[in-house]
Amino acid sequence: MDTLTELNRKGYIEESIDPTLDLFEEIEKLKKEKNAIVLAHYYQEPDIQDIADYIGDSLGLSQEAAKTEADVIVFAGVHFMAETAKILSPEKTVLLPDLKAGCSLADSCPPHLFKKFKEKYPDHLVITYVNCTAELKALSDIVCTSTNAVQIVESLPKDQKIIFGPDKNLGAWVAKKTGRDLVLWNGACMVHEIFSREKITKLKERHPKAKFIAHPECEESVLQMADYIGSTTGLLKYSINSDASEFIVATESGIIHQMEKASPGKTFIPAPPNNNCACNDCPYMKRNTLEKLYLCLKNGLPEVTVPADIIERARKPIERMLEISAKLGL
Ligand code: SF4
Repeated sequence: MDTLTELNRKGYIEESIDPTLDLFEEIEKLKKEKNAIVLAHYYQEPDIQDIADYIGDSLGLSQEAAKTEADVIVFAGVHFMAETAKILSPEKTVLLPDLKAGCSLADSCPPHLFKKFKEKYPDHLVITYVNCTAELKALSDIVCTSTNAVQIVESLPKDQKIIFGPDKNLGAWVAKKTGRDLVLWNGACMVHEIFSREKITKLKERHPKAKFIAHPECEESVLQMADYIGSTTGLLKYSINSDASEFIVATESGIIHQMEKASPGKTFIPAPPNNNCACNDCPYMKRNTLEKLYLCLKNGLPEVTVPADIIERARKPIERMLEISAKLGL
């Protein structure tokens, strides 16, 4: 089977790797050789975070993708993030270590259904959370992230009618924070919906001094218990600046690596899911491994492409978000 057929089937390059190779060194060599940078999301495994040139959440990663001078961007994250990088830097080669690193939230909003939904509200402006496909972004007026969603809604006139998608939990939280009546698409992230209010209550009883911090993609019943709600970067900053020494963290567990590095004396406890699985690990994010990243950089595959007409239409709402964020100093 040739490499491309194999790639289509598996989503990544499979090749045996000499076990004596130091992959950290090899990746550094390849980055120089190919003028490549590695952008990694906080939810990636620790080894990938440690080899990355830039680690961040969706807003930071988009800002970085827009300004990089590298020829090749290796995106250690999920497919919609690599698409966003391609939209912002169409002349660059954007690689994703595993093409099947998708997103349950992006999947919960098929563009053809959203288009029909949008047609029911012709006088509404469409704000979409960056966690969606390029095609959905192309149907939007402004894109947002969890870092800037509240400010973006607040930047619009009070009487502006708004559709918010695809995450209903983030949308409900933004509606509450801004006092606006948003029309919500009924989508959600499987990782952030899994936290158990009951188990968190018990954990809080065992750790009475711990601060409970949560991402706004969590359900309202979980957010009600939180001492702080914020984006992944917001949660990281809060854990650094807080006097507390223990934190119960309700988001994907990958962020704990950065929290522990930034505050070595503090304890971080992942919030428990409502069953016994490791469900607060995003199975899509965790499809990327250091080995796949090395092979992807070495072979220049898999590459993420976006049709030119979608790039043109999706670029405007993303740039609008970046402009508003820059104005607000986010
Ligand atoms: S954590 Fe949720 S929203 Fe983020 S990539 Fe995974 S499935 Fe998508």
